[in-house]
Amino acid sequence: MASMADEKQLVKEGVRLARWRMAHEKFSFADEFRIVPRSLKIVAISLFLVGQIAAQIAYFCDRKEDPLIAFVAAAALASLVLGFLLMLFGYINRDAKRRGMNSTLWTLLAIFVPYAIGLVIYFLMREPLPYNCPECGTVVNARFNYCPECKRNLRPSCPQCKREVRLEDKFCPYCAQELTSTHNTSPEKDPGPTASSPAQ
Ligand SMILES: [Zn+2]
Ligand SMILES: [Zn+2]
Repeated sequence: MASMADEKQLVKEGVRLARWRMAHEKFSFADEFRIVPRSLKIVAISLFLVGQIAAQIAYFCDRKEDPLIAFVAAAALASLVLGFLLMLFGYINRDAKRRGMNSTLWTLLAIFVPYAIGLVIYFLMREPLPYNCPECGTVVNARFNYCPECKRNLRPSCPQCKREVRLEDKFCPYCAQELTSTHNTSPEKDPGPTASSPAQ
């Protein structure tokens, strides 16, 4: 039975993951560009070159009535837009895969949902990148509450005000409680449901 509480919990989890992404995924264009498939980069460059050659040919076929620059600029614009879109869809395909999402589905959605709505939805909804457990280094999903390898609590909460804090916080950002000792609290001693207990 899907109750209101379940829905609220889902929304809360979504907001938490979005915040987590903002705090942990530092956007670097160079890094993101690196995951675009090389074949698509080559296709994009080729498109540009072919466009430029086509512009010259069109100019001569047009018996030089319109200025050459008009042909060159139009071809450049068209090939740049097309190349950019190609690389963007290639990026989404790779990015979805590394985030453990259905990459085929998301790529198709990004391409075919009109007015770039598919693109926007993708960038809002994408899963956070997996990261390394600060205790043992195992790659863990951002949805995990505990490390499956060493049981490290991956979503610690402040012992005083019970609000969720970040793994790297030394003091609670809400009430200034010192957190260093609680960070290594074994989840075994944690008697379970707290303010930030798992949804399941
Ligand atoms: Zn671990
Ligand atoms: Zn606190």
